[in-house]
Amino acid sequence: MKIMVENGKMNVPDNPTIPYIIGDGIGIDITPVAIKVFDAAVEKTYGGKRKIEWMKILAGKEAIDKTGEPLPKETLNAIKDYVVSIKGPLETPIGKGFRSLNVTLRQTLDLFVCFRPVKYIKGVPSPMKRPELVDIIVFRENTEDVYAGIEWPVDSDKAKEIIRFLKEKMGVTVREDSGIGIKPISITGSRRIGKAAIDYALEHERKSVTIMHKGNIMKYTEGLFQAEIYKLAEEQYKDSVITEEEINEKYNGNAPEGMLILKHRIADSMFQQMILRPDEYDVIVTPNLNGDYLSDAAAAQIGGIGIAPGANINYENKVALFEATHGTSPKHAGKNEVNPGSIILSGAEMFEYMGWKGIKETIINAIEKTVLEKHVTYDFARLMDGAIKVSTGEFGDRIIKNMEVI
Ligand code: NAP
Repeated sequence: MKIMVENGKMNVPDNPTIPYIIGDGIGIDITPVAIKVFDAAVEKTYGGKRKIEWMKILAGKEAIDKTGEPLPKETLNAIKDYVVSIKGPLETPIGKGFRSLNVTLRQTLDLFVCFRPVKYIKGVPSPMKRPELVDIIVFRENTEDVYAGIEWPVDSDKAKEIIRFLKEKMGVTVREDSGIGIKPISITGSRRIGKAAIDYALEHERKSVTIMHKGNIMKYTEGLFQAEIYKLAEEQYKDSVITEEEINEKYNGNAPEGMLILKHRIADSMFQQMILRPDEYDVIVTPNLNGDYLSDAAAAQIGGIGIAPGANINYENKVALFEATHGTSPKHAGKNEVNPGSIILSGAEMFEYMGWKGIKETIINAIEKTVLEKHVTYDFARLMDGAIKVSTGEFGDRIIKNMEVI
């Protein structure tokens, strides 16, 4: 049965149909293992009362082979119609060929939030002294910024035309041998992700929302992003959100009880702060490119992108596409050796998004137990003393074996 959205709320049946994309490269290794783990977690938590009906949809290499297109219309329609879906990684040719399928999916379906929770799981090898201090959610804007794909190659007619326009009409000189990219950041785009981040933080009783931006240099794009989210908070969240500046001016630096704190940090200093004082950050909202860098860098602090979950979400129409955050890792493809943690944890977040309580905790707890038993895939094994290296499939089976309803 389809998940329906009525009056802005999701109505999830007990046997929802969830579309899934296996993905290219290591997708074939991780996605089937993840589905086995999801089915076991649902069964364990709800004892047969609930069950997912999985519906395979095509994208990437498999779609090209079967339909001639990397991203068939049927796939896009299914993701929209069925509201919640999940995917493995998809390959993107660098500097040539078709556009990134991930960027196309995000833009075509207007999935404006890239949702990236980063939280430490006990036992996972980390380069940090105290990785347990990291517990953040990155809300990365997904549809604008230099990342939006509005660009033209060096020597192309369009790049030359823009260079001429800039010179003649705007009095700006750009070298003739330049490629050109455009960085749009809008009031609409900034406000809707600001709202999504603040609503999420309030609903999940998080302490703060930090806007990460480079508005001191890119004043009219990233500066706008910060200013509009502050304005939004002032206009719509006066009773529940307070800015850091207000706390310092009116409350001597001590936030009033029960208020969500809104603050902002310049992008470069944010990276430093995430390493030195990660526990001062909670929900972080940021434009596209900053968010891309920050979410992977933060993931490294808790054990790497092999274990970081993510999703692309439109919080207005509720359409959500959960995904493994790493790529297709071609050299490991088909070898049954990579870590399925990222897609499994993305599925855990998916169940929470659907309102199916308890499954996320069951899955995280089982992963933690498995890692503490030191039966791990190669990426963790090489960093842990006394670890036993297991395959992708064995890791999944051990997670299932270690499941207990919490
Ligand atoms: P990648 O596929 O993420 O792989 C980079 C390295 O990260 C791997 O060689 C491996 O390191 C490690 N790694 C990634 N996933 C892992 C896992 N599940 N378990 C253990 N280790 C893992 O990045 P890439 O090589 O830059 O990109 C390859 C392709 O994927 C490109 O076409 C890119 O565009 C695409 N991509 C897709 C997505 C997406 O679909 N969301 C995201 C990023 C990239 P070691 O070999 O050192 O162990």
